[in-house]
Amino acid sequence: DWLDADGFGAPGLSLPDAPTGPVPVVAVVGRPNVGKSTLVNRIIGRRQAVVQDTPGVTRDRVAYDANWNGRPFTVVDTGGWEPDAKGRAAAIAAQAETAMQAADAVLLVVDGVVGSTDTDEAAARVLQRGGKPVILVANKVDSARQESDVASLWSLGLGEPFPVSALHGRGSGDLLDLVLAALPEQTAVPQPSAGGPRRVALVGRPNVGKSSLLNKLAKEERSVVDDVAGTTVDPVDSMAQIGGETWRLVDTAGLRKRVGNASGTEFYASLRTKGAIDAAEVALVLLDASEPISEQDQRILTKVVESGRALVIAFNKWDLVDDDRRYYLAREIDRDLRRITWAPRVNISALTGRAVDKLAPALRTALAGWETRVPTGRLNQWVTELVQAHPHPVRGGKQPRILFATQPGVCPPRFVLFTTGLLDAGYVRYVERRLREDFGFVGSPIQVSVRPRK
Ligand code: GDP
Ligand code: GDP
Repeated sequence: DWLDADGFGAPGLSLPDAPTGPVPVVAVVGRPNVGKSTLVNRIIGRRQAVVQDTPGVTRDRVAYDANWNGRPFTVVDTGGWEPDAKGRAAAIAAQAETAMQAADAVLLVVDGVVGSTDTDEAAARVLQRGGKPVILVANKVDSARQESDVASLWSLGLGEPFPVSALHGRGSGDLLDLVLAALPEQTAVPQPSAGGPRRVALVGRPNVGKSSLLNKLAKEERSVVDDVAGTTVDPVDSMAQIGGETWRLVDTAGLRKRVGNASGTEFYASLRTKGAIDAAEVALVLLDASEPISEQDQRILTKVVESGRALVIAFNKWDLVDDDRRYYLAREIDRDLRRITWAPRVNISALTGRAVDKLAPALRTALAGWETRVPTGRLNQWVTELVQAHPHPVRGGKQPRILFATQPGVCPPRFVLFTTGLLDAGYVRYVERRLREDFGFVGSPIQVSVRPRK
């Protein structure tokens, strides 16, 4: 059995915890009874397949985590989507259309023994004009003898039919090799530092205390070298010691040089901010706790959120905060930081060193949230329950439904909801809020997008 031979579906096997960038989606389409479910079970291994048989959840549980030769991808079985079908050809055309939008590659499964039917042709026509890679799978080719029969399937206009037996596993490994080859290269996302110190952007408007904090945290020999070296070319980053750990404070050369000098112009400061955020995994945004939260503070926070980096907020100059200021600050936080209540906050003083070590657990928490991946099975169980407990309101006689969800990426966590129609913005926010309540993502922005079925 090729599943076992490759350790596929072995107990405990799951996606690696390490973020891997966006996970590509492969959709399986075809008319009823051609063997789509059997093929999907082959691809994902038997452990998840059992889950699919759970009564009551079968219909919506159509996306699964898969892994072939160490490469994770998501398999979507589009089979059960058409309760309101207006005839088979229309149904399968709609199914193919959805697959096209949702997937990075599509497997059109046909019955290799029966040959092509009108329904298969309807699906093929849609897929031909889609611009996504399509692999034509001729299933139920249980023996070599039957292979020559599939040649007639060239007529579907999707290239060479690929004979497999989903039931017996025949040709399935080769098919998966082909699928992976058809998938786009995983795009570059900010990857966690492989083993080395995590990359932190130390940002904030002028005078919040960035240089002071850098001085406090930078490793001893580092600052000595800087003072002495003067004009020698500095590496742009500083290594820092926080909470007994080494961290890389990225793009801090400018900060080191101007310790004690006047701050740069706002323009250069904002360029540095952008560069540092882009180079980092997590942004440590400094705010001056002794002063009101300003527009410029807000802009920097927005930049971090939009960049998709993890975020920790440090309220610096806490030594200057008295009871009065504390009262007003709490109100400013409620008003100005409401959209980012998920970001850990630490009250520090770069001057006295108060609580600076507490930055370490906050940064660690934020990075963990940033890298969180919810397994597809769990996510869809969650979606099923959410939709049952809190369905989308009826709009113009229609009630959009979430069919299933995937998390195609981490760093930050990104979610795609596949739906039967557009969702109210309020409902999407509700989904986001519930995602946070149930799965965490502390310290990380999350992105939720909606892909309605036509
Ligand atoms: P779906 O409706 O497309 O999801 O089809 P299923 O996966 O439920 O399969 C329909 C029927 O075809 C089932 O009885 C399967 O056992 C059978 N089947 C699936 N794949 C193969 C195959 O490779 N060879 C043979 N002989 N039968 C198969
Ligand atoms: P930067 O422009 O963000 O790099 O800010 P600096 O580190 O140059 O600090 C601006 C001013 O704030 C300097 O006069 C610092 O001494 C002062 N400062 C920085 N951190 C603290 C702090 O925690 N408490 C107090 N009281 N002053 C601070």
